[in-house]
Amino acid sequence: MARINLKNLAHAYLPAPTSETDYALRKMDHVWEDGRAYALLGPSGCGKTTLLNIISGLVQPSEGQVLFDGKDVSALPPQARNIAQVFQFPVIYDTMSVFDNLAFPLRNRKQPEAEIRTRVEEVAEMLELKDELHKRAANLSADAKQKISLGRGLVRNDVAAILFDEPLTVIDPHLKLLLRRKLKQIHARFNLTMVYVTHDQLEALTFADQVVVMNEGQVMQIGTPQDLFENPQHTFVGYFIGSPGMNFLPCQMHKGVASVGPQLIPVGHGTDQLHGHFELGIRPEFLKLHPNQTPGTHRVEIDEVEELGNCKIVRVLLDGQGLKVKLTEEQEVPAEHGFLEFPPAWIRLYADSILVRSTDESQRCKGPHHE
Ligand code: ATP
Repeated sequence: MARINLKNLAHAYLPAPTSETDYALRKMDHVWEDGRAYALLGPSGCGKTTLLNIISGLVQPSEGQVLFDGKDVSALPPQARNIAQVFQFPVIYDTMSVFDNLAFPLRNRKQPEAEIRTRVEEVAEMLELKDELHKRAANLSADAKQKISLGRGLVRNDVAAILFDEPLTVIDPHLKLLLRRKLKQIHARFNLTMVYVTHDQLEALTFADQVVVMNEGQVMQIGTPQDLFENPQHTFVGYFIGSPGMNFLPCQMHKGVASVGPQLIPVGHGTDQLHGHFELGIRPEFLKLHPNQTPGTHRVEIDEVEELGNCKIVRVLLDGQGLKVKLTEEQEVPAEHGFLEFPPAWIRLYADSILVRSTDESQRCKGPHHE
């Protein structure tokens, strides 16, 4: 498995790009560590597939280099890069048996038949394909065919990286959950370098140890799911990650207190020096909604309650500005108005959309999703 270095990498499909918007990928410099699972996550058209195809060699970058373990592979075609790639739709040989499909990448490399059998059986076991090994691939369901595609990607243990381009799109929702867990187990067991493209945040957050959040051809943040949730470096990440996304309120800072209209919200340690205009960000999970006024709470109108089965989302209005609060199913929602608390440890401040300060480490508490 390889460490992947993207060095001054940028890509424009246009022959003579003049402005930043002409680039499908804007200049980036990253090192992705050997043996880790990365998910490329972002909205449609943000450049995920372009980046994956540059790593695999299907697209040659117009600027910069791709290094595998320090070796420049930018000019090499996919076959010479020693990677496995799994696409959105099954790529299998219908006329062959499931066993022969899985064995194909190994037979191509002239591995001994006994080793091939062991490895194919191991992969078939992991993907729950053991009972199908001798069936013809043509007769199988779309789900099973995609499992074979995944298996073909996973069967070689000598590849630099395995690249997945939205591989679970055609899979039914129940099996999707199962396969996501399987891929994570396989990653933990074999320490493979995996890069996984998806626009589904749940998929990215459950699969990857590092999530690469992209927007408009740029990498906005690379971090663990916990980093992205607790400390979004950019308002885009705050909004894009989470369901619903982070709340943002324009505010004026003065001596550690944020003024949101007439409301004064203490932000906590380390903000005394900040003056002027910022955006206050807080996740719906961290806001507290009380039925009665207590010191430090702010009166809000209850605008809308959305019941989601295991939780409820309450939209409240603070002096006319909408905010979302996430409550557990058991928590009561006040009828017309309630009192909102902004725990300072969970307030983040943004200037020009960039995080200016994470609240002091000592103030951090565990979020509800880690309890
Ligand atoms: P999706 O989730 O919809 O697949 P994506 O994040 O993978 O999107 P890309 O497919 O990498 O995004 O596309 C990034 C940008 O590059 C888009 O503006 C797209 O229109 C453009 N693009 C992609 N492929 C080509 C191509 N072959 N020629 C010209 N422009 C392209």
